[in-house]
Amino acid sequence: MDRRDFLKKSLVLGGTAGIAIATGDAEAKEALAGAAGVRRPRCPRKADILIKAGELYDGVNPLPVTSDIAIVADRIVYVGKANPKIESRCKAAKVIDATGYVVCPGFIDPHCHLESLLLKEKTNEPYLRMGVTTVIAGMCGGSQYPLSDYYGKLESQGIGTNTASFTGHNTIRSKVMGQEDRFATKEEIARMQELMRKDLDEGSFGLSSGLYYVPGCFSEQNEVVELCKTIAPVGGIYTTHVRNENKYGIGLYNSIVEALEIGKSAGVQVNISHIKCLGKGVWYQSDKIIDTIEKYQKEGMKVTADQYPYLASGLALASAVTPAWSRDGGLAGLKKRVKDPDTLAKIKAEMVDLIDERGGAETIMITARANEYNGKTLAQAASMLGMDAVDAALKLVCDYNAYSNTFVMNEKDVVNYMTRPWVMSCSDGTFGAHPRAAGTYAELIQKYVVEKGVLPLSAFIRRSTGLVAETYHIKDRGVIREGAFADVTVFRPSEVRANATYTAAKLLSEGFKNVIVNGQVAVEDDKYLGTLSGKVIRRGVDTTI
Ligand SMILES: [Zn+2]
Repeated sequence: MDRRDFLKKSLVLGGTAGIAIATGDAEAKEALAGAAGVRRPRCPRKADILIKAGELYDGVNPLPVTSDIAIVADRIVYVGKANPKIESRCKAAKVIDATGYVVCPGFIDPHCHLESLLLKEKTNEPYLRMGVTTVIAGMCGGSQYPLSDYYGKLESQGIGTNTASFTGHNTIRSKVMGQEDRFATKEEIARMQELMRKDLDEGSFGLSSGLYYVPGCFSEQNEVVELCKTIAPVGGIYTTHVRNENKYGIGLYNSIVEALEIGKSAGVQVNISHIKCLGKGVWYQSDKIIDTIEKYQKEGMKVTADQYPYLASGLALASAVTPAWSRDGGLAGLKKRVKDPDTLAKIKAEMVDLIDERGGAETIMITARANEYNGKTLAQAASMLGMDAVDAALKLVCDYNAYSNTFVMNEKDVVNYMTRPWVMSCSDGTFGAHPRAAGTYAELIQKYVVEKGVLPLSAFIRRSTGLVAETYHIKDRGVIREGAFADVTVFRPSEVRANATYTAAKLLSEGFKNVIVNGQVAVEDDKYLGTLSGKVIRRGVDTTI
């Protein structure tokens, strides 16, 4: 349904945009009629919020226009060139003077791991404080299942940001066959397909895989193809943490090709999650990978990627430095295996290489779940323990299930991916052990837009808003226009600060004047106002009525 149809329909049905109409507010009715194209859009005489004279980047067009925006209830009802008389023409309960500020759609984070965290920390303040109004969770193979239960909980407790989710391959595989190191049978694949369909009915955006992690790493390509065939008929998307982002296993390049071939065989759109070149063994392969992805795009396949702007990756230390086969059966499986001296020797021999590939014990940083070792490098932890790096790593894994940051990327590849028009900004954020969860969008603005100047502001906004909405078919968000949801971010690029660091990952970002979620001001001058105006976004549901 296009904007005009929606507005016509909402006028008839009195939908969410028509709240003012239902209460007989003639001004809002007039504004919406104008927005529907009945005549040239004109500002309403009354609005809930007026944002005046901001440099508007609408999420689609690269050039800003100095504009006024009026919001009624949860919708944008008016967008027009800035007019000095706007305040006398449009009486608003709240006026935001955005003179000298950038005004753009609220950022949409296409890849995060906040699903369980949002049940505990419903405000999602770290994201709001860096301009994010929508987060998409259930990534890298792990999701809350079933989504019906999860969405019900979110809706009853309220959330600060809008939220959507994918269905995790590892999650549904575990439900059918545990964490076993073997291929799935036909019957097991059929059972997984059933679980996938159930979630699709609840609004899942598609399938996410984590083919590097247990148990996804035990599956063959065909299993994923068969699962993708269930998402194809409804336009679901396949997003994947590819099998190997480093030189190990089938290697980075072949893993990217595997993802593309899965999409091609099943006829689905593919997104490469947190695209990167992980470890010296694959540095500088970004050119070759970009060429290959663009070749598939030219052949007609829809392929995108998302990316976080840091040189360190963050993950469980077990996943970083122990071989996948040793984790068959999860951490419990690993703990059993290290008791057998021969197996232990094999695990340790492989760990030497894996630690080296992650940059060595001096650069692997223990960040969470490991008490006094948090904030220490693996080398420091090893000397505290009086052990060598391999033994220390194994202890930190088995006794603490420690979380780590490992410095595995180089900036040339990071910038190379960042400047492709099909790569979206993402946080890949989780519980705050890596600065990306509280800093990503501020880091992009401060470091890559303002300081280094490698990413034009318009490109940053596009890859953080409209491109994400279009990629994931999210209607009426990621764009500023009449009829769209009023998710809006107001900031001045030179004032934005990413405060989160590797040792203080939870420090919130600064420099955002206003962040508005569904027409409610959530952040004002770096203060969170306690709103819970986020909504659950379901795939395929026409959220416009
Ligand atoms: Zn991942």
